[in-house]
Amino acid sequence: MQTQIPVDLLPVDGRFGSGPAKVRPDALDYLAIRGDVMGTSHRQAPVRDLVRVVQESLAELYRIPDGYEVVLGNGGSTLFWDMAVSSLIEKRSAHGVFGEFSRKFAKAAERAPHLEAPVVAEAEAGKVAVPSAVDGVDVYAWAQNETSTGAAAPVSRVGDGLVLIDATSAAGGMDAPIGDTDVYYFAPQKNFSSDGGLWLAFASPAAIERAERIKASGRWLPESLDFTVAVKNSRQHQTLNTPALATLLLLEDQLGWMLELGGIEAVAERCRESTSILYRWAEARDFASPFVAEPGDRSPVVATIDLADDVDAARVISILRENGIVDVDPYRALKRNQLRVGCYASVDPSDVEALTACLDYVIDAR
Ligand SMILES: *Cc1c(COP(=O)(O)O)cnc(C)c1O
Repeated sequence: MQTQIPVDLLPVDGRFGSGPAKVRPDALDYLAIRGDVMGTSHRQAPVRDLVRVVQESLAELYRIPDGYEVVLGNGGSTLFWDMAVSSLIEKRSAHGVFGEFSRKFAKAAERAPHLEAPVVAEAEAGKVAVPSAVDGVDVYAWAQNETSTGAAAPVSRVGDGLVLIDATSAAGGMDAPIGDTDVYYFAPQKNFSSDGGLWLAFASPAAIERAERIKASGRWLPESLDFTVAVKNSRQHQTLNTPALATLLLLEDQLGWMLELGGIEAVAERCRESTSILYRWAEARDFASPFVAEPGDRSPVVATIDLADDVDAARVISILRENGIVDVDPYRALKRNQLRVGCYASVDPSDVEALTACLDYVIDAR
């Protein structure tokens, strides 16, 4: 071992990934208790009840407006981009691009032969870009939290198109005015402390109406990318094809835990406390600084911390891993001497405090 960190400094749980992320041990216990549902039909009452509870709990957590629906399907947020390209963008989209995830959606729209080239408002990594209103644009898209850089953007209406918010790493850790969005979509492997594979979304009546109109227009639509099919199945508490039941069970448990904690405000406060510990720590060290310069743009759920050139982040990360503290690697494409710490809902702020003590120990002992 390169460096052994004294055990009394170590966090209780060393999982700080930005996705997938820590699953609460209690949720795993719940999974074992509900083991009787595993391996049973997703067309029968026990699984459909499970899906219904997930939908109702999400609606409660975000107090979604009347008329909005909780829609879900297989394939994660990445599939949802292709679904939006097929089934929600009519002619032209505009994208705020400020990191790798928001870029991927813009690229998917750019490649679609049936759409006009998207309008892209781009900001360099560490800053934030939100698209502005453009004539002829019918979808405005950006991420509430850019997981690749640790920058967070505001959520509000733009123009008169649909507003599609990628909340994959924000949902369950940041509040949002759902009524200012038409599709607020996410996946359960981040704040929701579950496994990957599903996408979930709050959809406005306008979004559903748009998908119906596009379908009626005769555009070729693969069934798995047809938003109206997902809506129809979700109304029956089902998915088009077989979902991972363990993912749903872990999600159900996490939602119950979040509501018991006090709902989205309480959970968001817990995440903000965790990331604040890291930002304050970095500001107080001469070898570290928050990567996102503008404090108002700093993510309350994923903290990115630059290290000075004479501190080798890769070595620090490898020492941490040997000591059971895992996944604080920066986003690979960013190629920075950086730490990226997922401070999602399940992460205990006291473990983040412990992480900073471990960082001091490893970096002083280098
Ligand atoms: C993780 C992440 C995705 C990708 O989610 P998948 O479910 O793996 O497709 C997309 N957008 C953001 C902002 C993310 O953090």
